[in-house]
Amino acid sequence: MFDAYRDIDLDDDPIIVPTCGHFLTISSMDGHVQLREHYEVENDVFVAPKDPEFILDSKQTQMRCPECRMSLRNLDRYGRVARRGLLIESTLKFITSSNREYQPLFDDLIRQAERFEETREMCKSQPVDMVISPENSMDINKLKSIVQCFDTRYLKLKQVYRRIQEYKHSVRVREQPFQRVKELVQVARRRSLTKGEFSFDQSILQTRAHTLAWALLRRCELIFYSDLLALYRNALTGGLNISIDFSASREDCENLAERAAEGDHVLQQVEAYLFWARFAALELGFVDEE
Ligand SMILES: [Zn+2]
Repeated sequence: MFDAYRDIDLDDDPIIVPTCGHFLTISSMDGHVQLREHYEVENDVFVAPKDPEFILDSKQTQMRCPECRMSLRNLDRYGRVARRGLLIESTLKFITSSNREYQPLFDDLIRQAERFEETREMCKSQPVDMVISPENSMDINKLKSIVQCFDTRYLKLKQVYRRIQEYKHSVRVREQPFQRVKELVQVARRRSLTKGEFSFDQSILQTRAHTLAWALLRRCELIFYSDLLALYRNALTGGLNISIDFSASREDCENLAERAAEGDHVLQQVEAYLFWARFAALELGFVDEE
């Protein structure tokens, strides 16, 4: 990189000139953009593409002229490096935006839980018969008639619940940049538009936001059921048919714990076990009194 140009045989190592005009020899520029990380090399010749080691680092997304910092992404020779940089950049944006969207959902949920606590004593509705089963327990929107007898009490909670469901969908693995490109390539292969393949280290896929959203849904249901069952307990004067089965919710907590462990999300794993216990306690507590 530091040889004088008069000492370089340009037939052997020609120069490459980006649009900014600050030229380097090809070997220097290849080293600058770390091209060897992206191709197999035999006898100093690039022979086949390879997957570089995955590091989620914004520095990896920067391909800039060493003199003036102008982007080198439009150089065809480094298209593979540039495209990977763009994917890493998109993944970093995905992580930032999913973190940003999570906190308001969590805060809104806690606000609803506090409101339920504060207003429980004053709630005067007359509950209707209640059947909570594996078929309806994991979607509070399916408990329409039960929810309706409390008029507007659960309106805001249902809105937060819907937003968490949408958030969970938006951060799932299939929505992530690397996976989306992989699926686009698979579609193109099926249509014989390419013979290329797109593979990547699966650890690139971000599972934390999805696990967080998953846990938040169960937390939301627990806030709802804790309040609902407390109101029923206060109103129990006989004559109500009540059946509660949280087995589907507990099974889902077990799945969540397993998935969290796979992704090394220890906090969510512990949370899943706590949720499991709370579902069991709610169910048992109610059955015992019957
Ligand atoms: Zn330059």
